[in-house]
Amino acid sequence: MKIHEYQAKEILRKFNVSVPEGKVAFSADEAVSIAQNNLGGNLWVVKAQIHAGGRGKGGGVKVAKSLDEVRTLSNEILGMRLVTHQTGAEGKIVKRLLIEQGVNIEKEFYVGITLDRAISKNVVMVSTEGGVEIEKVAAESPEKIIKETVDPELGLQQFQARNLAYALGLSGQQHRNAVKFLLGLYKAYVASDCSLAEINPLVLTKEGEVIALDAKMNFDDNALFRHTDIAEFRDLDEEDPLEIEASKYNLNYIKLDGNVGCMVNGAGLAMATMDIIKLAGGEPANFLDVGGGANKTTVANGFKIILSDPNVKAILINIFGGIVRCDRVAQGVIDATKEINVTIPVVVRLEGTNAVEAQELLNNSGLNFEVAGSLKDAAEKVTAILKK
Ligand code: GDP
Ligand code: MN
Repeated sequence: MKIHEYQAKEILRKFNVSVPEGKVAFSADEAVSIAQNNLGGNLWVVKAQIHAGGRGKGGGVKVAKSLDEVRTLSNEILGMRLVTHQTGAEGKIVKRLLIEQGVNIEKEFYVGITLDRAISKNVVMVSTEGGVEIEKVAAESPEKIIKETVDPELGLQQFQARNLAYALGLSGQQHRNAVKFLLGLYKAYVASDCSLAEINPLVLTKEGEVIALDAKMNFDDNALFRHTDIAEFRDLDEEDPLEIEASKYNLNYIKLDGNVGCMVNGAGLAMATMDIIKLAGGEPANFLDVGGGANKTTVANGFKIILSDPNVKAILINIFGGIVRCDRVAQGVIDATKEINVTIPVVVRLEGTNAVEAQELLNNSGLNFEVAGSLKDAAEKVTAILKK
């Protein structure tokens, strides 16, 4: 699960990780009131809250030097369609703002913590190249990213945090501030069951403080039951409506950009199906795992979700009948196709127990299925249909 920057900063505050003073606002009036009454001072930052980075470049982060400016900028940013390299071309409508006390920036750094699955350990990364896209730094000058891997038994050690702070070129009180920051951030990451904690930029202020100017935290969904406070941060406005709908039916659905709708049982087979569609020259419209027991109801729900995406021009059903018999799945597909009134071409590949009986059922159904033998055959058939 993803959360907003202001929510991530609320969590960090609880772990004594330095963040600027700030508060969420849903209207320009609220924004002005926060700047005036909660924050004070004479420099504020108005920040669009969407689940995507690159907001600064897209015009979603602006500095205000007066309360009037806070109002003007808030009116400008609230409701805008913010397009960044992470939102896709359609962008995101801004519904919330973070109003923060302005910070005098001396230097911008990068800090990220995530799990390195290859070594089954958390990795803390820092770079002096903060504020910019870290993917670019990783690609063009990977030596500028300094890493410490963390022993899960011990947690991030003092000496490791000190190494990282030195790598940022800090010394004296600034170094001590950075060490405290890194240890606190690591604690917050582990205690909250994060899959990612990224601070870009981490800034050194002109006053020598080390503070998180931006904050991104992603969470392991499987651990959310232990964090009801974090689960409440979920913002459905930021999620794909089809994915929310699919989760109600217990279907694992991820929307993609292609035009071949996929209905598959099992995540591994679903991944393989997407790969082979691409190999055949097609583009999958989605990932969809309907789970173990593909029956009429699950197939019908799957159809509903897939067909809600207007890009879908053909459907590939790929089911392996291990736990469920293929003939029962075939009957489910036939019944669901009639019920939903599917009008676009459907290629079906069923393999496993009673596959032959299943093919007969599909061929004799009177419906317009293309029955495929192998997975490769299925992918080629569906891409051939789209080329017609
Ligand atoms: P992102 O573009 O979505 O990653 O949003 P960030 O929160 O990282 O903000 C983008 C940029 O805005 C930062 O890299 C800073 O340069 C700038 N910025 C954010 N807050 C402040 C602030 O308090 N003072 C100043 N001077 N600049 C800020
Ligand atoms: Mn940022």
